[in-house]
Amino acid sequence: MNVPKEIKDYCVKCNAHTQHKLKHFKPGSPRALAEGQRKNVRKKKGYKGKYQFTATIKKQNKKPTFIAECSDCGAKHYFVIPKRMKKTELKDTS
Ligand SMILES: [Zn+2]
Repeated sequence: MNVPKEIKDYCVKCNAHTQHKLKHFKPGSPRALAEGQRKNVRKKKGYKGKYQFTATIKKQNKKPTFIAECSDCGAKHYFVIPKRMKKTELKDTS
């Protein structure tokens, strides 16, 4: 699906609809010292076998997530298309 590079969206800081620039969102690496991460490491040790339920069916695609930056004040927020799809491309429509 082709997504325009610039959209008009609501900005909380400006309290108005302004022009926003879109960027693909990429999740960072998990924090090694987070509580859940430490728990996982602890549970994997020893002979306790399977400790976590493994789902048989996994979703094939993810909902495309972007980061929208306001051109007026520079505030950022997420912009999610609420539909699963394989591929998205940012293209300028002029
Ligand atoms: Zn703004």
